[in-house]
Amino acid sequence: MLRFINILYILVLFSSLHGTEKLQDVSLQFQWKHQFEYAGFYAAKERGFYKDVGLNVTFKEYTNGMNIIDNVISKKSIYGITYSDLIVDYLHGKPIVFLANFFKHSPLILVTQPEIQLPSDLKGKKIMGVQDSLKSTAFLMMFKDFGMDMHSFTNVPPSFNVNDFIDKKVDAMVVFSSNELYNLDKSGIKYHVLNPSSYGTEFYDVNLFTSKEELINHPQRVKNFREASIKGWEYALSHKDEIIDLILKKYNTQHKSREALEFEAMQIQKMVNPTLFKIGSIDKRRVRIMAEDFIEMGLIANDINLDFDDFIYKDINYNTDLSKTEIEYLKAKRTLKLCTDPSWMPFEAIKDNKHVGIAADYFNILRKNSNISMELYPTKSWQESLEAAKNRKCDIFTLASATPLRLKYMDFTDPYIKLPLVVTTTIDKPYTDNFYTLKDKKIGVVTGYAIAEILHSKYPNMQIIEVNNIHEGLTKVENGELYGYIDNLMVIAYTIQHEYTGILKVSSRVNEDVALAIGTRNDEPILHDIFQKLVHNISEKEKQSVFNNWISVEETKEVNYSFLYKILLFVLALSLLYFYRYHELTKYNKKLEKLSTTDVLTGLNNRMKIDAILDFQYKLAKRYDTVFGIMILDIDYFKNINDTYGHQVGDAVLKQFATIIQENIRDTDSAGRWGGEEFMIICPQTEIDALFKVAEHLRETIASHDFSNNIQQLTASFGITCYNGTQDAITLVKEVDSALYTAKESGRNRVVIAGS
Ligand code: GH3
Ligand code: MG
Ligand code: MG
Repeated sequence: MLRFINILYILVLFSSLHGTEKLQDVSLQFQWKHQFEYAGFYAAKERGFYKDVGLNVTFKEYTNGMNIIDNVISKKSIYGITYSDLIVDYLHGKPIVFLANFFKHSPLILVTQPEIQLPSDLKGKKIMGVQDSLKSTAFLMMFKDFGMDMHSFTNVPPSFNVNDFIDKKVDAMVVFSSNELYNLDKSGIKYHVLNPSSYGTEFYDVNLFTSKEELINHPQRVKNFREASIKGWEYALSHKDEIIDLILKKYNTQHKSREALEFEAMQIQKMVNPTLFKIGSIDKRRVRIMAEDFIEMGLIANDINLDFDDFIYKDINYNTDLSKTEIEYLKAKRTLKLCTDPSWMPFEAIKDNKHVGIAADYFNILRKNSNISMELYPTKSWQESLEAAKNRKCDIFTLASATPLRLKYMDFTDPYIKLPLVVTTTIDKPYTDNFYTLKDKKIGVVTGYAIAEILHSKYPNMQIIEVNNIHEGLTKVENGELYGYIDNLMVIAYTIQHEYTGILKVSSRVNEDVALAIGTRNDEPILHDIFQKLVHNISEKEKQSVFNNWISVEETKEVNYSFLYKILLFVLALSLLYFYRYHELTKYNKKLEKLSTTDVLTGLNNRMKIDAILDFQYKLAKRYDTVFGIMILDIDYFKNINDTYGHQVGDAVLKQFATIIQENIRDTDSAGRWGGEEFMIICPQTEIDALFKVAEHLRETIASHDFSNNIQQLTASFGITCYNGTQDAITLVKEVDSALYTAKESGRNRVVIAGS
């Protein structure tokens, strides 16, 4: 039973993708309504570029609340256009492929009232439309550089109406530089623009993508669609008026004026920037930088493997035809000699003097595609193969990782197999998605493998124990000598399937992939060029079918499939339930934690939390012999506000106080609501003089603040004190309390230092 479950895991991990129907009708889902933003696609259709490659393309406008990426994965649309959020979704495991990028930076900008010149001027102000975490990443990155976050301003949900800005209902508003700016300019209103790209934060926009499945099943269609679309964009940007006419005639669902479309076209020209960038091009380094920004904003876990090789579409235009010199070289050479690992199933092995396994299947495809004659150079061990290659008895490694040692005598192509490294343990051990949690556990790995080298250098603190081979490793895991054994998923899966005793399972994934390539003798570098072409010529479909061959088939013949699928469903349902519950619980716990530590009215820390912070600071200062300051402020004559204007206005004033406090303390300081209209502020590493200055500044800011609702001026009184190495936490509070009392007694609106 357990063995079946393992087979099922493997089936799930390498799920096969079949389906050969050839659709000529394809659809493209836009990320917004028809406008010049999609000019290139209209052009490709109108000029017959799509038709020339046998495609009939339907365009779909965005409708509120739709998830474009999921729509494409579920084939509601074959292709889609979306924001940079596709990078996040890909890294979260969604099976999508990034085909082309059209806008080199996002048209989303902030327009602000003219007096607001810098991001920091927006502290405490109302901003409309920065609510969606993904679209707002660029803004949040910009704010971060000014010490601000999501809580530094009030977020107003979008009304999609520039009049709210014109009527000054909001201080800033997120707009498309290609759309709303036109309306603002037309209204003659004064405004200022904050553009994240001027602050070094640039995100791609108008990104064309498709599902992994589409690429596997219809690689030629993907290539055709992509190229025709790019051609369309080239056409549209050099024939703007013609495309504007077309939009006015066929696509003007938004009833834009010609002038508005001309403005949009001009802005879009700048964003596509065809003089600087190849239309449609994707820069891998920029994708990586965007991913790093997403990590910084907490949208992606920081231990995620930033590998975009399977994400960014590779132009199959890669010239895979062999050149004349290459063909002549091969003719002269007659037959290439292949060195393999004679016992490394399922990757490869020598059985009855024949090369078998995944690599052997690959080489059969290469033979078929290229007509190159290749034959096996049989050896008894991998070590012997290495020696043979060194002595130039063979020309090729069929499957190997490039290591510094091997690079001395071999060149390596781009990898053609990439597999995750996983940890196998006994079934009683918990699943973990964080490899670091195994820090103090003994983990086995085979001596001399490239992965042993990587693990030693990347995780110097882990207890990596070398073993001679996978069998020794797994046996030691079984009998408890080792906590786990690391190898690539394929080998583990295969071994578990063939020799598994029933108490082992895959329980964690290491953030590291094994990349295997073809090695070619480096004294004949032309071989490297030849094989590089051959490797790139293998289609996704061919790759998939090789994998499917080697996973599950041979050994599952005797298995009753309907029974198997029942278990599969059961296992899937269980894991889904588990993940759902886990997710819900985490969400709930986070909510609870926030609720239990936040003051509902002001959003500051509540009394319980500020007590805990005080206690922590006190212990820290005591242990490391440092100082810290605390202050309590109490609003003067606050009762009058309630009595005159009512409780609601009183509440609003308390909120304004909270904002003023937050804005005038440092990031390292903590503020909380101590009582009804009393606030406590804790300032680590602060001596009394500095603390006095902070309090004085706060007092002045409050006294000169214009509170709305006709209240006008309000003041507050302060008591302050510092830890001097002798008081305990309770005494500290008593000290500030009595200083506050003195401040009130001596006339209010003042700061009093305890004991003075
Ligand atoms: P002073 O501190 O200057 O001596 O005068 P005061 O009027 O501020 O006096 P006191 O501190 O005794 O009054 C506190 C008032 O704060 C009492 C209560 O009505 C009001 N209060 C406490 N909590 C809240 C609240 O959450 N909302 C509102 N609206 N009022 C509150
Ligand atoms: Mg009070
Ligand atoms: Mg008071």
